[in-house]
Amino acid sequence: MSDLNKLGLAEARDALRAGDVTSVELTEACLKAIDEADALNAFVHKTPEIAMERAKAADERIKGGDAPSMCGLPIGIKDLFCTKGVPSQAASGILEGFKPEYESTVSQQLADAGAVMLGKLNMDEFAMGSSNETSVYGNAVSPWRCGNDDAQLTPGGSSGGSAAAVAADLCLAATGTDTGGSIRQPAAFVGITGIKPTYGRCSRWGIVAFASSLDQAGPMTKNVRDAAIMLETMCGHDAKDSTSADLAVPNFEAMLTGDIKGKKIGIPKEYRMDGMPAEIEKLWADGAAMLKDAGAEIVDISLPHTKYALPAYYVIAPAEASSNLARYDGVRYGHRAQLAQGDGITEMYEKTRAEGFGHEVQRRVMVGTYVLSAGFYDAYYNRARKVRTLIKKDFEDVFAAGVDAILTPATPSAAFGLGEMTEADPVQMYLNDVFTVTVNLAGLPGISVPAGLDTQGLPLGLQLIGRPWEEGDLLNTAYALENAAGFVAKPGKWW
Ligand code: GLN
Repeated sequence: MSDLNKLGLAEARDALRAGDVTSVELTEACLKAIDEADALNAFVHKTPEIAMERAKAADERIKGGDAPSMCGLPIGIKDLFCTKGVPSQAASGILEGFKPEYESTVSQQLADAGAVMLGKLNMDEFAMGSSNETSVYGNAVSPWRCGNDDAQLTPGGSSGGSAAAVAADLCLAATGTDTGGSIRQPAAFVGITGIKPTYGRCSRWGIVAFASSLDQAGPMTKNVRDAAIMLETMCGHDAKDSTSADLAVPNFEAMLTGDIKGKKIGIPKEYRMDGMPAEIEKLWADGAAMLKDAGAEIVDISLPHTKYALPAYYVIAPAEASSNLARYDGVRYGHRAQLAQGDGITEMYEKTRAEGFGHEVQRRVMVGTYVLSAGFYDAYYNRARKVRTLIKKDFEDVFAAGVDAILTPATPSAAFGLGEMTEADPVQMYLNDVFTVTVNLAGLPGISVPAGLDTQGLPLGLQLIGRPWEEGDLLNTAYALENAAGFVAKPGKWW
C-alpha cells in the first residue's frame, strides 16, 4: 500500500486488522508527511519517539488479537490538551516550557484505545481566534489555495493546525476543541468533517480552559464515519470533571445507516443574514434539497433570538476567560518576566502577563474583567446570560415541535486570506462565528460536513445541529448528507 498517510481512520483500522499494513508503516508515512510540510506550520511540537513506541505497542496488540477502537491509528493532538511530559502551551507565550505532569482525560482515552500521538498541533492562543493568527508559533497555513493565486489562506481557527494537518494528510485525524466554533469553522475551511458534541459528552479535564461553560473537545476527521469512531473513544463520564455526563456512550459507527427517511430537518430563517454571499445561499439550498431527496422532510423554522447570540457569546466567553486566565501569573506555570530592582509582586504580575499574553488574549481579559466588574455586571454579564437562556429555549421549542436536526451554513464565507482581517477591527473576525456560537451557548451537538466548492474552488461546509445527547442520530444525518454531497476535492500539494 502506498500513501498510507492519506487513509482515513476506518480504512486504516480495517487494513491493520486484515494484516495488510502495520501501525509502524502508517506512523512512518505520517511522520514523513509531517517533515515535508513544515511550510504549513501545523505541528508545533513533533513527538516521533512517542509515536514509534506507541505504534510498535499497537502492532503487538493487534498481533495478539486485542485491537481496541483506535489501535495503531496515528493522530495529532491540539496544543490545548495537556499531554504528560510533552510541551502543552495552548500556543501561548505565557506557558513557555510547560510540560504537564498529567495527561488530559480525552487524550488518555485515545491513547488507551491504542491511538498513536504524532505531536501537538497549532491553534490560536488559548483557542481565542478564528484564523490561527493569534498563535505564539505564528499561524498554520491552509493546504488550499485559490486557483493560481499564491496568496496564503487561513485554515480557520482556533483548531487551525488540526484542520491543516488532516486536510494535508499529515495525520489520519486530529483532536480539536470548540468554544464558539473552533472545530466546525476550520473543518469547513479545509474541507474536512468536525463535530462538537453536546456539552458534557467529553471530559474537559486536562484541557486548558478558555470558557468553561462552552468548551468541548471533539474529533476532526476525513469523513463522518471516522468522526463517529473517534468521538466514541473521546466521550464518557469522568469523575475529574463534574460537568461530564454520566451517560452511556453509544456505538456511533453502528448508527450510520444513511437512512434519514421521515426525519424533520429545520431551516432557520434567522440564519439568512443580510449580505450572505450567493454561493453560501446556494450551498444551503442544495444541502436542503439533498436531504429532501434522501427522504427527509424540510421545514421552515424560527430561532428568534439568533441575532443576539454573537454579542452574548462575546460577553460570556471573555468573562469566563478572564477568570480562567487569572492563574497565569508568573508564579505557577511557564513564563516569568525579568524583574527590575525594587519590583514587587504587582510588577511581576503586570510584566509577566504583558509579555506572556498576546494582544487578542489581553483584549479578552480586559473585556471579561469589564463585564464582570461591579458596575457593569448586570448590564452586560447577567444580560448575556439571560439571552443565552432564550437562545437555548428557541432550540428546545423547535426540537419539541418534532424537528430532528437543523441545517445551516457552517461559515459565512469560504476561507479568507491570512492577514486579511486586521487587529484594528476585531469585530470583523468575530463575525465569522455567527453560525456556530449559538450551538455552544445552547450546549448542543453540531457538525460541519464539507458540501461544495465556491467559485474559487475552495471548500464550503454545511452545519447540522442536533438534539442534546443525540450525536448518533446527528452523525447519521451528516452521513446521509456526506453521501449525497459526494465531496471528494483535495488540495493540490504545493508545500
Ligand atoms: N472564534 C471564536 C473565538 O474566538 C471561537 C473560538 C473557539 O471555539 N475556541 O472565541
